[in-house]
Amino acid sequence: MHEMSFCIKLVNLAIETAQREQAKRVEELSVLVGEMTGIVDQLFINCYEKAVEGTILEGAKLNLIHDKTRAYCNNCGTEFIPDKEHDYLCPKCGGFDCKITGGRGVVLKEIILD
Ligand SMILES: [Zn+2]
Repeated sequence: MHEMSFCIKLVNLAIETAQREQAKRVEELSVLVGEMTGIVDQLFINCYEKAVEGTILEGAKLNLIHDKTRAYCNNCGTEFIPDKEHDYLCPKCGGFDCKITGGRGVVLKEIILD
């Protein structure tokens, strides 16, 4: 399952962070979920719950925040949300020399430790 690999990476990172900070437990996790990943929240949550069983993360609150796809135009410096209407090109100059700057992965945004 697609969600699983993202989930395992995230859980490992969160556990590492908690251990490094010598936390007793983890209260809350905020996770940015990129639109481009195509992740389905409920599947991600199912994986997460299995992955955290018996770890320091068990019982922590999980907040999923949707991260919209964003792009940056190398030609004119505009940041924009790519859309089909513009063929995913820069809406300002029509340039195609753009890079994706957001919405691409799963990012651990915040971790609240105790
Ligand atoms: Zn542009």
